[in-house]
Amino acid sequence: MDPALGPPEAMAEKRDELTPMMGQYHDLCERYDDALVLFQVGDFYETFCGAAERTARLLEVTLTSREDSTGEYPMTGIPIDNAESYIEDLLEAGYRVAVADQVEEPGESSGVVERAVTRVITPGTLTEDELLSSDDNNFVAAVARGPGDHDGLPDRDAHLALALLDVSTGDFLATSSSSEEAIADEISRFDPAEAVVGPDVRAGRGDATPDSSVPDDTDFFPEDCMVTPFDEAVFDRDRAAETVADYFGAPDSLLASDPEIRACGALLEYAEYARGSESEAEAEADDERESDRLEYLTHLRRYDPREYLLLDAVALRSLELFEPRAVHSRDDATLVGVLDETASALGGRKLRDWLRRPLLEPDRIEARLDAVEELNGSVRAREKLQELLRDVYDLERLIGRISRERANARDLRSLRDTLAVVPDVRAQLEDADCERLEQLHADLDPLADVREVIDDAIVEDPPIEITEGGIIAEGYDGDLDDLRETARDGKQWIDDLAERERERTGIDSLKVGYNSVHGYYIEVTNPNLDSVPEDYQRRQTLKNSERFVTPELKEREDEIVGAEERADELEYELFRDVRKTVADEVERVQDLADALATVDALVSLSTVAAQYDYARPELLERDRERGERGLEIDIEGGRHPVVERTQASFVPNDARFTDGQRLAVITGPNMSGKSTYMRQVAQIVLLSQVGSFVPAKSARLTPVDRIFTRVGASDDIAGGRSTFMVEMDELATILREADERSLVLLDEVGRGTSTADGLAIAQAITEHLHDEVGATTLFATHHHPLTEVTEQLADAFTLHFEVDQADGEVVFRHEVAPGAATGSYGVEVATAAGVPEPVVERSRELVAEAEDSPHAGGEGTGTAVEEPTADAGSTASRTTADGGDVPADVAAELRALDLGHMTPVEALTELDRLKRLLEE
Ligand code: ADP
Repeated sequence: MDPALGPPEAMAEKRDELTPMMGQYHDLCERYDDALVLFQVGDFYETFCGAAERTARLLEVTLTSREDSTGEYPMTGIPIDNAESYIEDLLEAGYRVAVADQVEEPGESSGVVERAVTRVITPGTLTEDELLSSDDNNFVAAVARGPGDHDGLPDRDAHLALALLDVSTGDFLATSSSSEEAIADEISRFDPAEAVVGPDVRAGRGDATPDSSVPDDTDFFPEDCMVTPFDEAVFDRDRAAETVADYFGAPDSLLASDPEIRACGALLEYAEYARGSESEAEAEADDERESDRLEYLTHLRRYDPREYLLLDAVALRSLELFEPRAVHSRDDATLVGVLDETASALGGRKLRDWLRRPLLEPDRIEARLDAVEELNGSVRAREKLQELLRDVYDLERLIGRISRERANARDLRSLRDTLAVVPDVRAQLEDADCERLEQLHADLDPLADVREVIDDAIVEDPPIEITEGGIIAEGYDGDLDDLRETARDGKQWIDDLAERERERTGIDSLKVGYNSVHGYYIEVTNPNLDSVPEDYQRRQTLKNSERFVTPELKEREDEIVGAEERADELEYELFRDVRKTVADEVERVQDLADALATVDALVSLSTVAAQYDYARPELLERDRERGERGLEIDIEGGRHPVVERTQASFVPNDARFTDGQRLAVITGPNMSGKSTYMRQVAQIVLLSQVGSFVPAKSARLTPVDRIFTRVGASDDIAGGRSTFMVEMDELATILREADERSLVLLDEVGRGTSTADGLAIAQAITEHLHDEVGATTLFATHHHPLTEVTEQLADAFTLHFEVDQADGEVVFRHEVAPGAATGSYGVEVATAAGVPEPVVERSRELVAEAEDSPHAGGEGTGTAVEEPTADAGSTASRTTADGGDVPADVAAELRALDLGHMTPVEALTELDRLKRLLEE
């Protein structure tokens, strides 16, 4: 147990003797024993004992101690004013933080000040703007499992359910699947910061007690996702159903399975828990589930992963959607970096959601494309829209704060300022032709009523504090105006007092002043003390003067102070009413936010399309009745959206896949452009399905269901697995799950093992993908003999990258051409890279020797096999790495291998056996 968590031992031992304050600390630590408790004492958050030692070290703050009659306790204090940055560090160190605030003014009641945990801050439940990235969602996930092993059962009892909630924006999603991998893929897609798990999902990573009857689900969650085991009771089916019903109505009509209901219910309760409470009494009531609902959670969207282009973690990474592939790359060397020209945080998040979930449904894609195209028509309109959208505040988080009663008057003004922009945004879409923009025009409700409420009630430039007045506008409330007038009159009376008293007493130097201890006073310098009238009462004696009050001054002062105090209280009350009135419109504000976000994202896509000369993709339907099988992809002059941005000039390339031309084996030396080419094909497909224009002269394609990639060495060093094992694992997934609506990218498969093994695996995979799977495949390889294999496969073909060679120098043309490459130019590349001349010279000799030897061809130099061996047409004698014949029986066995149903180890064992057969 972490000594920073739970009640400190030194206190637990003598709980009954502790001072009331320390007792409170002890009890809060006990109640929130999975969080580090920050305990408000005046202007500081304090921690004690183990927690103090830990925070002192983590936050580099001084460790002191607090001593009372019961002992001395180590202590640290962090100033409340900039607590956020400290809290951020604590979260980063893996802690949840329970903030225990003083919830009454000191002296309000007898005894110790009441404190309550007003929020539990966890990585997945952040709502503080300072701790959140503005243009990305921050999700907390919950996972629940259906009973038993339910492969293949209908949705009602789907195996695994996933709920995702962004507490800061109110985005709430749920899905389920009988495939564990599908759920893992969805988790990668949304990349939650935290996952809440219940009794049927083991937390792994040592967080929970190991229980062998429950499957280990650690693999679901990315390394940086905090796994939070939470109160098992909230996962109970009936309780969860009740929770969901409380928010959204009948759960059965909304959600597809019991696990979904359980995941959603649990997540709602977790969000309520993290929200904290206004008082200790309320916190206790929470335990009986009577807490305040989070009113801004208005929508729960159930979706099926099969509605979207499937991208697993590997594909997200290798296609550089959100993270650059190489650690040293610039942060914007990503697809989102190129595409994001959004002007508002709302738009930024919308665009990321679109990229995360490209569409399949042609109608939905076309609707976006129509809008982008129409916006392309007018640069002026687009620029105007962007200018307007820059003034749009983060409405989703604003209304969330307003609804959670965390918003101040400035937040309301920000909402109002955004509403003021809406009519202008709307006007820009007045003449929209396409359906999508027309709809957005209709959806952009400027919420005039809400704006009016704020305009009437809140002054233009209110203070941050909401309890100290200065918020409510003149004329909004009669009582407030009266109180203010009383205070103003009083002050005027005091302002005039000095003049009046000077006249009355004849003391020209008489002054009226104010200090916080004595209030208003009349000051008379020593030489004039004789002229002081009877009714002056001495209050303070200074070196050169005396200060007095008069009964009337005191009376006026009390009046002013009283009026001001009552005014502040009344303002606070009125402010809360206004905030509540606005909060009641949460759904309308959210709908408006969604419309603005969509406009922003579409304008961004259109801006990028114009700026970088993208073309509108044409979506095709395949006519399966006419025997058209897989995908059709026809890209003319395609470019890599990210690489072309970092490159002085980029060479466009075509790509064409259709029946009869489905599997491309691509050869060419290192650095010639193979991997760029493959990835650009996938990215153009992906962008098309996002509804974006694409970096190409033209693109015609059928929507793809799923993109698989096995690109580059994604060494799972942390996981302790060899490159080869990772590679085989990724391959196994592809072979098992790809079908003819999949796009598969393979780069250098079989590198982690010997050349002969590597080639054998590569060939077997090629054949399997071709014969059984029918996926559209791009396969870059060093194994030149593989190009021979394509001759036997009806739908396979070869491509290579052209390289010019002059005076021993290699010039990469980055141009794709039909056919196989003739050499690898490895030696020349080595020269170009600055490998010392003697080494290069020796390499040349070795290559020459190898080419002369009878076994020329095999090794990684990639020299193409010169002569296909006898009767190339016969399937019994496909060429192997050794250039010899494969006996018919071995070939038959190889072909019969059902790789889709083999583990990598089984595959290896089998290959090993076949190899031995060959060697016999
Ligand atoms: P390979 O996969 O064949 O080793 P890459 O695709 O990684 O080669 O390309 C190597 C480098 O060549 C890229 O980083 C890029 O700088 C450049 N490059 C690739 N394709 C092109 C292209 N079509 N036009 C211009 N430069 C390119």
